[in-house]
Amino acid sequence: MEKGTISIHTENIFPIIKKFLYSDHEIFLRELVSNAVDATQKLRRLSSLGELKEDIGETRIEVSFDSKKKTITIKDRGIGMTADEIKKYINQIAFSGATEFVEKFKDKGDAKDIIGKFGLGFYSSFMVSKEVEIISKSYQEGTKAARWVCDGSTEFEISDAKKKDRGTEVILHIAEDSEEFLDEWKIKGILDKYCKFLPVEIQFGTTEESVEDGKDEEDKPKYKTVTKDRIINETEPLWTKSPSDLKDEDYLKFYRELYPMTEDPLFWIHLNVDYPFNLTGILYFPKVKNDFEVQKNKIQLYSRQVFITDEVKDVVPEFLMLLHGVIDSPDIPLNVSRSYLQSDSNVKKINSHITKKVADKLSELFKKDRKSYEEKWDDIGVFVKYGMLSEDKFYEKAKDFALMKNTESEFFTLDEYKQKVEPNQTDKDKNIVYLYTTEPGKQHTFIEAAKKRTYDVLLMDGMLDSHYINFMEQKLEQTQLKRVDASTVDKLIDKDEKVESVLSEDESTKVKGIFETAIGNENMKVSIESLAPDELPVTVTMSEFMRRMKDMSKTGGGGYYAMMGGNMPDQFDVTINGNHPVVAKILRAKKEEKKQQLAKQAYDLAMLSQNMLTGADLTNFIKRSVELAAE
Ligand code: ADP
Repeated sequence: MEKGTISIHTENIFPIIKKFLYSDHEIFLRELVSNAVDATQKLRRLSSLGELKEDIGETRIEVSFDSKKKTITIKDRGIGMTADEIKKYINQIAFSGATEFVEKFKDKGDAKDIIGKFGLGFYSSFMVSKEVEIISKSYQEGTKAARWVCDGSTEFEISDAKKKDRGTEVILHIAEDSEEFLDEWKIKGILDKYCKFLPVEIQFGTTEESVEDGKDEEDKPKYKTVTKDRIINETEPLWTKSPSDLKDEDYLKFYRELYPMTEDPLFWIHLNVDYPFNLTGILYFPKVKNDFEVQKNKIQLYSRQVFITDEVKDVVPEFLMLLHGVIDSPDIPLNVSRSYLQSDSNVKKINSHITKKVADKLSELFKKDRKSYEEKWDDIGVFVKYGMLSEDKFYEKAKDFALMKNTESEFFTLDEYKQKVEPNQTDKDKNIVYLYTTEPGKQHTFIEAAKKRTYDVLLMDGMLDSHYINFMEQKLEQTQLKRVDASTVDKLIDKDEKVESVLSEDESTKVKGIFETAIGNENMKVSIESLAPDELPVTVTMSEFMRRMKDMSKTGGGGYYAMMGGNMPDQFDVTINGNHPVVAKILRAKKEEKKQQLAKQAYDLAMLSQNMLTGADLTNFIKRSVELAAE
């Protein structure tokens, strides 16, 4: 037996490791099982190169625990280590990583990201153990098995061991404060989370299964319960296979496995990149309902089939966080801090590659089967719009397959729509005006008025549409978007086609005065227009500009509106149709009181159609309506 001291500067690093990595103790198991997988894969490589004298045999990894002895054991049949190799790989390499770690991060709080990068893998076992034993036998012929023990101080012991078969056993003597890990479901839970897709079979305990066992006298099948080894992982997960070997059903099955209880996805993309970085994965487009937030963070990130995290922020473009699926890349520096990740050039490349792939897939679907693409639009529209808003490169591609839907449920690309409405909806200043509605139910009167002019109305009732409208105005040339109730229809698209006024100037002024008195609110800006006699007598609208400012200040933005006083009262335009018979009737009325009554009634109707008539005004309106009906 030999005793030695691990040469590091810090007396005892384990309390420090333990303290820093507190929140993530469970990953010790991921690190040790990953080491076992590495050792097994190295052996397989040697074997395929003809370097292995013996038959490779069984390579399954076993995880087990003993609640009496308070141990957890990870046993592999990989390449193993000789005593010298243990000294070299475990004492020196691993410890130099640990030392570096401690030196660098003893004053910082966010150290849990660092594990792995400094080769702390094996030493994470001390987060839960008071003593760790390694018993190992190398694949190399004529070497002796060795046993290494360390209690978390800088002292270690190394001696010969009896182990006959090739491979490594790591035995963790669990510390008192970590005994929660000596539990079957706890361990299974951790293995399921991190090791579900590792490339070497991992066994943990047994399960019971019921299997057919001959037939009974009535020729019905008989069943018996058998105990089987419980295998944790699927060694060849779908993303590692070639897309040409896979059917739709395989992708759907995998999706259901990843996200049980979730509705089937719309479609998917199988990623497979070797250059300039390594990346595989499958991204699914789920059906996006209105619960945007709930859907985030569902993409799982793997590195060589080891689960790392499902917080993919920074690796996947923000707008694609709504996607589901897996990404596997050994090139993502997974264990470093966030700010580093953001500036990492691989991450940037991966980001833009994924964006490009998604755009290509959407474009392909659009071209291949427009009808089915349109059917999916309500679900994928959110991705596409979000992507266009947040990523210029994506916009450049998406502008050809982004759709707009009108109130007739017809779909158009940006180009198609321009061609459709340009002839009829261009105003006197050569602006093309796109009309839209956010609530077809509430804005029905205005939509009908627009349709009477054969104008088209777009449906913009999605959760991103208020931003998307602003954005389109910036991108589309000579184009304005106006909500269909932002003004009277003739002013929305002002073509300078004047309808003759039946009122003299003097009468106009009079009518204006009557209405101003009747309304009695200076935030309601009254104007007299000569509209067709079949238009409404009074229309109450809020201008596109005012409304957008208001919307923006509501969502926290709207610097301008906020600057203008924040709580500025709402201002509305009240348009009186001078050519309407009601106006003539008001002028004809003998008594001032009657004039006021009629004006108020017409105004209240306009308010009612905008859902703005409430409280005492509503009560008075009903009273007045009854009186007028009884006249
Ligand atoms: P890393 O895995 O990042 O290299 P570790 O501290 O986890 O760092 O392990 C250090 C080294 O010890 C490994 O690189 C490997 O050479 C050796 N090692 C660890 N576990 C095993 C094992 N189960 N079988 C063979 N060698 C191992």
